[in-house]
Amino acid sequence: MEFEPVIGLEIHAQLKTNTKIFCGCSTSFGAPPNTHTCPVCLGMPGVLPVLNKKVVEYTIRMAIATNCKVERRSRWARKNYFYPDLPKGYQISQYELPVAQFGYIDIETDGSRKRIGITRIHMEEDAGKLTHDPDRPFSMVDFNRTGVPLIEIVSEPDIRSPEEAGAYLRQLHSIVRYIGISDGNMEEGSFRCDANISIRPKGAERLGTRSELKNLNSFKHVEKALYYEINRQKEIIIDGGRVVQETRLWNPDKNITTSMRSKEEAHDYRYFPDPDLLPLVVDNEWIDALKKTLPELPDRKKNRFISEFNLPSSDAEIMSSSRELADYFEECIKEFPKPKQVSNWIMGELLGLLNAEGKTIDRSPISSSNLARLLKLIDKGIISGKIAKTVFEDMANTGRHPEEIVEKKGLVQVTDVSAIEEVVSQILADNLKEVEGYRKGKKKLIGFFVGQVMKETKGKANPKIVNEILKDKLAE
Ligand code: ADP
Ligand code: MG
Ligand code: ZN
Repeated sequence: MEFEPVIGLEIHAQLKTNTKIFCGCSTSFGAPPNTHTCPVCLGMPGVLPVLNKKVVEYTIRMAIATNCKVERRSRWARKNYFYPDLPKGYQISQYELPVAQFGYIDIETDGSRKRIGITRIHMEEDAGKLTHDPDRPFSMVDFNRTGVPLIEIVSEPDIRSPEEAGAYLRQLHSIVRYIGISDGNMEEGSFRCDANISIRPKGAERLGTRSELKNLNSFKHVEKALYYEINRQKEIIIDGGRVVQETRLWNPDKNITTSMRSKEEAHDYRYFPDPDLLPLVVDNEWIDALKKTLPELPDRKKNRFISEFNLPSSDAEIMSSSRELADYFEECIKEFPKPKQVSNWIMGELLGLLNAEGKTIDRSPISSSNLARLLKLIDKGIISGKIAKTVFEDMANTGRHPEEIVEKKGLVQVTDVSAIEEVVSQILADNLKEVEGYRKGKKKLIGFFVGQVMKETKGKANPKIVNEILKDKLAE
């Protein structure tokens, strides 16, 4: 029997507001424990929450960017449970009436496009953070994070493979950063994902029993955990068993998932409307005004890069993956209008360099203008592509203009035919045995001769001219 995976993702993104959702405490990361707290976010008796308008604004931006219907009226709910990181004993969230629903985004895997439905987006507050030190007989709690605003984005069960899940997640990650509502930092936990997965016989209508995977803190882990889980569920069914509904934890060291709790042990949160907060009402003018402030989104940009610059889809995908990278790419093209060459250098040399140094594009040691100037030097035949790589390194280390480096180091490519001819004659005279071999049919020796000429000219001879002259002289 052939099986089909069915996947739905729940994503939490931390919003990049300066202050918390219901009080004026700072949201900044990394402060000493319990310094960003007040009676409201500590859940003292008698305090009242006051909604931060920026949180609603950011959520609506996300709703528009993901084609959701923004509800004019939504409601706040209390999700009740006890845990030491939750001082109030309930989390303020949205339940029956979320602020946005019925959206979608289009993703692409292996060149085919597909629409993934978004069930809902709602706002809620984050909980605190517990630290467990194995050497001490107690745990510690930090309430700096309680009340930090989150949005939860729930997808329809439209995803059919780990790759699609990865593409969906990457695109949402890219969108939150494009529209500036979250920094999307997965390691710091400001972008988190739970994955729901079941399998069913291919073609079946009914959904299978799902498991919910937690502790997925990188894109790679999400895909790996889903692969593992698909196989685990398949084996159970092939062995004649039944999948049980449960929450499972991904173990990144062992590359397996393990059971955390079954459905029977799941909490009953006893949601009810929060009596301290009025229903949220947003007017259409505000929504329309926010619509106008949205930038060109990644999917749109990618398609424009394909149609306007004739980029292959994979290049366009990478060039549009962040707004900063896209801007860098377009700035380069303005100065050097050969898009494919620009994307080649960005994907190969530049991103390689940035990765190695753990930097993002906005910290690039090489400006877009300097990269464009370097490409111009190659294009005009002033330096070879090979020399350009050493100039690139120099630019990265010194921040100097490429022309200056080429000039100072004497790297200008030799295109003077007679100068090259002279070197070629010398090389042939020094390697008579190889010349004879070549003339007897060992045509591969051409590589050897080119290498020798390049060595002699310190890589500066124009390779095309070198090849032509060599073939000419060896034919004599
Ligand atoms: P819960 O209330 O437990 O979070 P939801 O019904 O809100 O459950 O669904 C959570 C996520 O699980 C959604 O993304 C949804 O698409 C997905 N989902 C629901 N049922 C299944 C299933 N049988 N298989 C895979 N995913 C599912
Ligand atoms: Mg859930
Ligand atoms: Zn506070």
